[in-house]
Amino acid sequence: MATHIPPIRKQNPYLPFGDQKGTRFYGQDILSVKQFNRDDLEYIFGVAHEMAGMVRRIGTFDLLKGKILANLFYEPSTRTSASFTAAMERLGGSVIPINEVRYSSVSKGESLPDTIRTLEAYADVIVLRHPEVGSAAMAAKYARKPIINAGDGIGEHPTQALLDLFTIQEEMGHIDGLTITMLGDLRNGRTVHSLSRLLTLFDVCINYVSPDILRMPAEIIGEINDKNIPQKEFSDLETILPESDVLYVTRVQKERFATPEEYESVKGCYVITREIMQKAKEEMIVMHPLPRVGEIEMELDDDPRAAYFRQVEYGLYVRMALLASVLGKA
Ligand code: ASP
Repeated sequence: MATHIPPIRKQNPYLPFGDQKGTRFYGQDILSVKQFNRDDLEYIFGVAHEMAGMVRRIGTFDLLKGKILANLFYEPSTRTSASFTAAMERLGGSVIPINEVRYSSVSKGESLPDTIRTLEAYADVIVLRHPEVGSAAMAAKYARKPIINAGDGIGEHPTQALLDLFTIQEEMGHIDGLTITMLGDLRNGRTVHSLSRLLTLFDVCINYVSPDILRMPAEIIGEINDKNIPQKEFSDLETILPESDVLYVTRVQKERFATPEEYESVKGCYVITREIMQKAKEEMIVMHPLPRVGEIEMELDDDPRAAYFRQVEYGLYVRMALLASVLGKA
């Protein structure tokens, strides 16, 4: 006798069989760091710790066996897309990779909502990177399944900010009381937009160092101000480096400039060298969301303060924690 398959619900949220509906973030979208409070971070970092332990002990395990992730990237990505793929596969799930969007229906003019609604028929969760600010929130309006924002233009990159914060917590042992200095293209760097917002949950001081045309957007400075977080702007790193606990370096985002001349005028504006690092504290860390394109000399990689490749590994555990959480298995 044929088994009755219930009709696909149009209005109700997606509730897969057998998942833990009480799990924090179950079925939720991850769109902006603004959705998190300190308890949420404690929860995510706790799960990320467990993931780290499991990966180190057994490598790959079956927590998300049978689950499928659609990795939908409209902008180039190496790290974020590989990191989500590795996270899903370490948890025993599988991945539909869509990196070359120009070969897909999108290049035939398909709208983002149609692409999302098609992919969610195949997958349980969608990771989306798109060049437009607000694209992930728009996709989430149409999707019944969780959308994870993997970068919406110069908007936000919430999973990067979570892994950045996890890195700071793991490396420095705490976040409250630290001075965090962000350097480089603060106008176009979505990672610093998300990180500075997330840091407002803590008792920190934030410094911004950039050329004038790449300053942190006034809207974000205003938001941080509203949360009473001390912040200062500089054009020169050397004055502020000695008191920094974290130096967060970013690349100049070539693809976001209106003209090549504008890019050329700021390209290579800051380069972190061994010599510059002599002025930094012994107990501090240098971070970078990567890719680096000359902002940190390779000679610094052996310095124990160079945390950027460790940061990549922390990212795997945080993304495993997020996938397991939104799929109700954390
Ligand atoms: N990988 C980061 C991002 O996607 C940083 C960068 O591209 O510079 O925003």
